[in-house]
Amino acid sequence: MAIERVFTQPGPDEERFLTSLRPQRLDECVGQEVVREQLRIALDAARKRGEPLDHVLLDGPPGLGKTTLAHVIATEMGAAVRVTSGPAIARQGDLMMMLTQLDTGDVLFIDEVHRLAKVVEEFLYPALEDFRVDYTTESGIGGRTVNFALKRFTMVGATTRAGMLSAALRDRFGLLFHLQYYTEPELVRIVERNAALLKIQADPAALARLASRSRGTPRIVNRLLRRVRDYADVRGDGTLTPSVVDMALDILQIDRLGLDNLDRAYLQSLIKHYDGGPAGIEAIAATMGHERDTLEDVVEPYLLQIGFVIRTPRGRVARPAAYEHLGLATPKRAKDEPGLFD
Ligand code: ADP
Repeated sequence: MAIERVFTQPGPDEERFLTSLRPQRLDECVGQEVVREQLRIALDAARKRGEPLDHVLLDGPPGLGKTTLAHVIATEMGAAVRVTSGPAIARQGDLMMMLTQLDTGDVLFIDEVHRLAKVVEEFLYPALEDFRVDYTTESGIGGRTVNFALKRFTMVGATTRAGMLSAALRDRFGLLFHLQYYTEPELVRIVERNAALLKIQADPAALARLASRSRGTPRIVNRLLRRVRDYADVRGDGTLTPSVVDMALDILQIDRLGLDNLDRAYLQSLIKHYDGGPAGIEAIAATMGHERDTLEDVVEPYLLQIGFVIRTPRGRVARPAAYEHLGLATPKRAKDEPGLFD
């Protein structure tokens, strides 16, 4: 059986909870200083000219704030936002409906924009560039192409895989932002604010511990806060202390670095089945009985970030820090093993 992540897709209840904690304005967002500064300038300039903002592409691992920023952009521009995702737009007609409903300055947020169907993507090009679409009403001999003018809108695209975006689509975004993992002090600020919003009694040391085990990701720190609060309510007096955090995270099998079962299973598979690599992602996914996409999207980015794994031309390689973390002996590897570190 495949190993599941403690938190897979958020349910509607979880989604509501996360939405309630979402910062509304740019100044309420924590971290991402470079992105926020560039965005602030672009927003000020657009407002000054009385024009909609350029199209924006946000890329980065899940849970770092892409959806949040799309909403923030709309709020800052005093506009409405329409939310959809690449896989949800099956036909040109679906997109046509959305585009024609947009008002001047509105934000169209397309999550997982790298998963747009090719025909839909091509249909989008003139909409992004010239704010018009050529819509064919019926296929075949009776088909009629109608040219529609659209209001000037802002598209915000989000992707966990900027590399999978076609160059043609990427070129149509005027503003490209890459989101980084958050530092521990930034996550502490986020969780302190949210604990206060939710009126949770918490020891500062308990919140610092939560932040240190959240893989640099605001979505994770928010979810852990919720789980730990449950634990404190049921097993304690509702107050978050470092030992309550430790006990709750032990039950969730989240270790001292914030790695969960899925992260550890990936490392074990790479180390035990492939002698630490190099191993291809397809092979690792097959051994684990998991989707390659999940591993590439939600597991590998953080393991690469903390230097537990590297990508080489011949595949993934586990680094000594990963062996140490799992309590395994580090194999002797010649530094100059051919092809490994080039
Ligand atoms: P993504 O779209 O990249 O998967 P989200 O925008 O859904 O991520 O963010 C997940 C959660 O993290 C949100 O509920 C929000 O509360 C929180 N969050 C994201 N970015 C920030 C930030 N810069 N400051 C504070 N909280 C944030």
